[in-house]
Amino acid sequence: MAVNIILPPSSLSLWHTKKLIYSTQIRFRIMSSASKSQPQSVASSAVYQVPGLDSHEMDSTADKTFERYSSNTAKRNGKGVSIVWFRNDLRVLDNEALFKAWVSSQAVLPVYCIDPRLFQTTYYFGFPKTGALRAQFIIECLADLKKKLMKKGLNLLIQHGKPEDILPSLAKAFGAHTVYAHKETCSEELQVERSVARGLRQVELSPAQGNSSRSSSTHSPKLQLIWGSTLYHLDDLPFSVGSLPDVYTQFRKSAEAKCTIRGCIRLPTSLGPPPSVDDWGIIPSVEQLGLHSEKVVKGMRFLGGETAALSRVTEYFWNKDLLKIYKETRNGMLGPDYSTKFSPWLASGSLSPRFIYEEVKRYEKERLANDSTYWVLFELIWRDYFRFISIKYGNSFFHLGGPRKVEKRWHQDQKLFETWRNGCTGYPLIDANMKELSASGFMSNRGRQIVCSFLVRDMGINWRMGAEWFETCLLDYDPCSNYGNWTYGAGVGNDPREDRYFSIPKQAQTYDPDGEHVAFWVPELLTLPKERRNFPGKSYIEQVVPLKFGSSNKHHSQRSKYGGRHSGLRNR
Ligand SMILES: Cc1cc2nc3c(=O)[nH]c(=O)nc-3n(C[C@H](O)[C@H](O)[C@H](O)COP(=O)(O)OP(=O)(O)OC[C@H]3O[C@@H](n4cnc5c(N)ncnc54)[C@H](O)[C@@H]3O)c2cc1C
Repeated sequence: MAVNIILPPSSLSLWHTKKLIYSTQIRFRIMSSASKSQPQSVASSAVYQVPGLDSHEMDSTADKTFERYSSNTAKRNGKGVSIVWFRNDLRVLDNEALFKAWVSSQAVLPVYCIDPRLFQTTYYFGFPKTGALRAQFIIECLADLKKKLMKKGLNLLIQHGKPEDILPSLAKAFGAHTVYAHKETCSEELQVERSVARGLRQVELSPAQGNSSRSSSTHSPKLQLIWGSTLYHLDDLPFSVGSLPDVYTQFRKSAEAKCTIRGCIRLPTSLGPPPSVDDWGIIPSVEQLGLHSEKVVKGMRFLGGETAALSRVTEYFWNKDLLKIYKETRNGMLGPDYSTKFSPWLASGSLSPRFIYEEVKRYEKERLANDSTYWVLFELIWRDYFRFISIKYGNSFFHLGGPRKVEKRWHQDQKLFETWRNGCTGYPLIDANMKELSASGFMSNRGRQIVCSFLVRDMGINWRMGAEWFETCLLDYDPCSNYGNWTYGAGVGNDPREDRYFSIPKQAQTYDPDGEHVAFWVPELLTLPKERRNFPGKSYIEQVVPLKFGSSNKHHSQRSKYGGRHSGLRNR
């Protein structure tokens, strides 16, 4: 049963901004049968829907946003049919591929290919390439995209198979002169782009099927790839990708000083009609993708799709007014509101970073501008940076030695790895974060840095095992951000200065001082006094490895199978 309750600070708080935030009371929508009078038990079993709006509020938010972003002046001057191949750009708003397809044709055929390779296994360690929770999220994105396209007079053709098999045969069948799609940057996606282009070259179209009146001979459909996943456009950068700075700050300062962010693409209200299609296909269930469906029964339940994405922006910026305190809250770990939670929609492309930029600017004009409003953009520039860096360094992003080709001995101890993966390391902070990842497909940025450091530094395990497990589980999995951050965390990234050790006791004391996050995810700790939840001693399972730096426990009562060791890393 769905009930709305207001969680009191004792059951869920952003510790360092408690006063600030709870003076205005954050309202969570909880799907739970627990009563209001049992905040502790509600908190330890609650599901937080993100965004927390009901479907009516979300539809109306999306409709209003689309109204603001519609164009009455866009002109169509093409001929024939064009195809839009949707990939990680599952949105209508600010979708340049869709816009160009519309401009250059008389009929647009939107297509999504359910590529079986996405449901196989990860490259080295054979984990599922897409976990059930992300599969569910993508299914919801597709359902919403179809709805949005239908509202604009189009539809979405769902096809099962490899894009390189499907798109050329569709181009042939519909006489499409061009396939428009967004450009990707990592090897697997680039390989697919090359195969699609090759497949299209084999297709022969009659002269009448072109989009130019001058064409008099047979020709092949073209693949036109468009850049559209970042805040800054690749073509606007003040340096070539080959000479991209290896230090983030240099990149950011230069981009901020010398580039402008392009405005969102505005589409006309109607994009139809589509070509005539007998069977538009159906959006599959998780089971039809060969996975076992999983339900989020605890933690955050993200709703997939552009409607939810636009609603989350409205909820976080405007309804809850949290943008103005983002910089103070962003290192939190518990609940929907310490950070924007935009990442799952950004990764699936149901949210455009340029739209976020325009909303930040609108907020700064209408409400206020401060460090926090800027900091969301600062973080989005990190996202840009990893995407551009992935072009510069290509496959070395995925190599053990990373972009810097660092030679180091790594372990591949499966049993030890499993304690990390399953959240049974004996360190509540690690275990809570890993349980959160498995149960919800999400983990805070703080949590990700801590568990990465622990796997790599304290366990000495091959960082790619961790990166691949994240690839399986994360709703926001994105090869550039994931492998970019993991290479940094493992000390093999392009910036040699990013060699970090995260001390668990320090992190626990700073970011979870009342043990609220660990007690939420490891409920047996709930009965301990707050200050002991992160340092439970014998009340919790034995630690599987010692920490590299000093004592693992501020109370010095923790058991460990091993003695302590030291290394020369910077300790945070
Ligand atoms: C080991 C590790 C793996 C990661 N894997 C991914 C991944 O696969 N996909 C992913 O989107 N992010 C990844 N991140 C980055 C970051 O943790 C998430 O983007 C962030 O936690 C998402 O939550 P949010 O949207 O509330 O972020 P906010 O704090 O609200 O930030 C706003 C946006 O800025 C971007 N951003 C913030 N921090 C980073 C960062 N360090 N790197 C790149 N972009 C950032 C994201 O798009 C995010 O949505 C990883 C970080 C680490 C340490």
